[in-house]
Amino acid sequence: MEWPIYLDYAATTPMDPRVAAVLGQCLSRDGCFGNPSSSTHILGRAAARAVESARDHVAALLNADPREIIWASGATEANNLALFGVMRAYARKGRHLVTSQTEHKAVLDVCRRLEREGCTVAYLAPESDGLIAPEQVAAALRPDTVLVSLMHVNNETGVVQDLAAIGAITRSRNVLLHVDAAQGAGKLPVDLKALPVDLLSLSAHKLYGPKGIGALYVRQRPSRVRLEPLLYGGGQERGLRAGTLPTHQIAAMGEACRIAHENMTPEQNRIRTLRDRLWQGLATLDNVELNGHPEHNVAGILNVSFVGIAAEALLTALPEIAVATGSACTSASHEPSHVLRAIGRDAFQARGAVRFSLGRFTTVEEIDYTVEAVGAAVNRLRDLSPLWEPQRRGLDQRAVDWAATP
Ligand SMILES: *Cc1c(COP(=O)(O)O)cnc(C)c1O
Repeated sequence: MEWPIYLDYAATTPMDPRVAAVLGQCLSRDGCFGNPSSSTHILGRAAARAVESARDHVAALLNADPREIIWASGATEANNLALFGVMRAYARKGRHLVTSQTEHKAVLDVCRRLEREGCTVAYLAPESDGLIAPEQVAAALRPDTVLVSLMHVNNETGVVQDLAAIGAITRSRNVLLHVDAAQGAGKLPVDLKALPVDLLSLSAHKLYGPKGIGALYVRQRPSRVRLEPLLYGGGQERGLRAGTLPTHQIAAMGEACRIAHENMTPEQNRIRTLRDRLWQGLATLDNVELNGHPEHNVAGILNVSFVGIAAEALLTALPEIAVATGSACTSASHEPSHVLRAIGRDAFQARGAVRFSLGRFTTVEEIDYTVEAVGAAVNRLRDLSPLWEPQRRGLDQRAVDWAATP
């Protein structure tokens, strides 16, 4: 086994060696280092061909037209471009936007900023299983609603939204639909010829590509989505995203998408089997709760609350396993996860939440080790914990809260 055991694939993935090889071929004098905009010579034209071939691979993964793919620095930038870009371009149609409480900060923080610019935002609350009911979306739409932005797969719980049903509503009401698919692309089939989605964000480092590159899908047919750019400069990407294209990042993202597309179903089946094995092992412990949906979930994510334990204490006890509490972004701020709170978990449950995320290089040996080590640590911590006694004896939540007060 390789140490530490890596079970944090939802935060980032290691680059696939095949992807790293492609990236390395675009860097130095003997490689494809030219500026893709330098159409006057063979080196620039070779780089442009590498960029367009990568665009074909990204488009193929989504069954989109390559002309609908705009490069960006990651899903954060793609989300910013989608939300600011649409709300500014359609300001005369309206200034209302619908999203959910369980979105990534790269959507929620943009919404907060848009509110300060005069937009109104509706934040839908999901059910306790994490799903947004399509009827909730329908009920939130107003005559001045321009855009609905909902994620495909939640990065903390792995819950998968029903994009077809939600898109049918937005399409029929003439409202645009943006999807943050950073956690879904390459893992679940996404067919943009069939799905009524208008904009979709991707990140390469969530699918075994490099950090610092992503893309925004912008629908061209049947009607073209208009966007106000965030960056102005050399007119690259049809004026929607200026800046010299990073050939090495782009070629690597193309290769990552090609590999993901080729192996999607068998790879996801293998990961799901490992995830189920992990859950079966952990569920033998007392008071372990699943945060998420039992069926509508992505294969690689398992979010569980070890009730009566602070997740940080558990992770400190297990330095040989790399996992996340809540999510990587919220754990920096030490607040309980906004996603778990939005699906109705109390502070006590949210504090005990650990997100295990599995991926391409996870092995059955790693899962079996993790089940053993987590089980031993949970039992040890509970034996030490004054919080655990009242919880175990079934006392009510107030007693637990009281015991938790320093
Ligand atoms: C990782 C992630 C992002 C941010 O992507 P970057 O490429 O790191 O900017 C956005 N949304 C979701 C759902 C993510 O998982």
